[in-house]
Amino acid sequence: EELYGIKNWGAGYFSISDKGEVVVNPYKDQSSGVSIMDIISGVRERGMDMPVLLRFENLLDAQISFLNNSFREAMGKLGYKGQYKGVYPIKVNQQQQVVEEVTRFGERYHHGLEVGSKAELIAALSLMKDREACLICNGYKDEEFVDLGLYAVKMGFKCIFVIEIPNEVDIVLERSRALGVKPIIGLRIKLSSKAGGHWTESGGDRSLFGLNMSQLIEVVDKLKEEKMLDCLKLLHYHLGSQIPNIRDIRAAVLEATRVYAELVKEGAPMGYLDLGGGLAVDYDGSNTNFTHSRNYTVEEYCTDIVEAVMTVLDAEKIPHPIIVTESGRAVVAYYSVLLFNVLDVERFETYDVPEQPDENASEQIRNLYDVYRNISVKNIQECYNDALYYRDEIRDMFKHGRISLRERALAEKLFWNTMYQIAREKEELKHFPPELEDIEHALADIYYGNFSVFQSIPDSWAIDQLFPIMPVHRLLELPRRNAVIADITCDCDGKIDRFIDLHDVRKSIPLHELKNGDDYYLGVFLVGAYQETLGDLHNLFGDTNVVSVRINPDGTFDLTKELHGDSVSDVLSYVEYDPKIMCANFRETCEEAIRSGYISASERREIMRAYENGLRGYTYYER
Ligand code: PLP
Repeated sequence: EELYGIKNWGAGYFSISDKGEVVVNPYKDQSSGVSIMDIISGVRERGMDMPVLLRFENLLDAQISFLNNSFREAMGKLGYKGQYKGVYPIKVNQQQQVVEEVTRFGERYHHGLEVGSKAELIAALSLMKDREACLICNGYKDEEFVDLGLYAVKMGFKCIFVIEIPNEVDIVLERSRALGVKPIIGLRIKLSSKAGGHWTESGGDRSLFGLNMSQLIEVVDKLKEEKMLDCLKLLHYHLGSQIPNIRDIRAAVLEATRVYAELVKEGAPMGYLDLGGGLAVDYDGSNTNFTHSRNYTVEEYCTDIVEAVMTVLDAEKIPHPIIVTESGRAVVAYYSVLLFNVLDVERFETYDVPEQPDENASEQIRNLYDVYRNISVKNIQECYNDALYYRDEIRDMFKHGRISLRERALAEKLFWNTMYQIAREKEELKHFPPELEDIEHALADIYYGNFSVFQSIPDSWAIDQLFPIMPVHRLLELPRRNAVIADITCDCDGKIDRFIDLHDVRKSIPLHELKNGDDYYLGVFLVGAYQETLGDLHNLFGDTNVVSVRINPDGTFDLTKELHGDSVSDVLSYVEYDPKIMCANFRETCEEAIRSGYISASERREIMRAYENGLRGYTYYER
């Protein structure tokens, strides 16, 4: 458990069973967990290939409840007089099934939705049933967007337009007059508070979105002039996603609540304070203010927010508003797990080399032999320097035609054997030269996984995000290999070579040796937020198969939904190929091959069948 840190990042939902398999347990007790290997068997029996994205319905349900109950408890404890009403930002995972489940599980808490575009509003309107929940409209709004929102208001929904730029208020007022529907207006502000972390560019004075304080006053004055100030009900800010430090969160809430109080004093009815997203996920399990973690719990997050709002408003005798947050990442990250099988391994091995250089060997080869034979704890840095120097010299000599390919091959074997030996000697040392830190990385095996980084965990490639990764079985055996993971896109960026660690980032991960043809399955965890729709079709690897799992309290499970991943013809049609025309063209090529005597007519039939099967097949490696 310690090797992969599952206790730290698993939040009680993921653990390891007595059989050495990863189990998922939404109820956070030992008795009713379900082994991921049992789910894989079920998926395989139904004829679905890896990679598969599992969505655990109960984990979504549990996270929504956890967030809402934590706010309720904090409010109860502190005597807060308002309520909490969360909204789920659709952008975090827009898949129909995900949003549909959020609205279903969220209904008992009146947990609503946040949209940032017209398409998202249209999606939300197809799923919103709860008139008590908020429907927050961020993003730039054209006439069509505003009209749809106003119709929602007319039908009794709490659809709130958040004004992002000053001119937007004109279109809202104009359409509201045209349709005869009074809008509910919110204002998004730029705070001077700024948070640290990877994803937090939305905060701060110079942030792209929201009104600065003078624009805010302009909009308030315009609403007064138009006698529409009574429509101003909400204040919103978004500091950024994945805010690791609770102090930044607190500072922002205090600042925004001050603005809220001033708007009340200006005569706006207000009633809602929307603090945006930012509640972080502890991806590395370190519980620190590292980028991939957070130095607070969800309970602390809620308590600090409620307390900060009360501190400001009680001093001004202003009633407590409904607190809204737009948590996305924290609600859906745990929900999905990507599973893939390992197709092959390129092992790092030491090479057999002759004991002695042969008599005609060049001086550089002899020098490399000397380095290799004389490594000891005392001189590893010197040996490292020398080995690199001679290897580079030999490469140069090869380029100039002064040594043969065979000699160069021998030099590379000697070089890697030397590196291997240095790595072993290094283990004896407590402190070693910083240059040697990465040596294990260079010596790691390459495990080829049946998945695409670009399609399934794009943030790992794009912004170096770390996700917990580990084998989902064989966890009673000690993993004896050190590995990096390559995907099957053949792109040099299609790899995972940074892994979570409590104190730093690991450059390789311990994995098990492949056993006589048995499948070896790895899981990438906490991938429910942002990964699915940011994924792209690099090398034409499409959407993976998706299976929804419901875990029952008695420890059984149901596979409730399955979505087949893209076929080859699906992904080709996304890039404007027409599979029918492709078949016709290829058929012509085959005919031409018959005429030119390459193939017979009956071979053509076989070849066409293979082509058509290929078009229908999964884009990933099939068994
Ligand atoms: N609200 C807005 C306006 C956002 O832009 C985002 C995403 O960054 C979110 C909410 C969701 O944030 P998080 O996933 O950190 O909860």
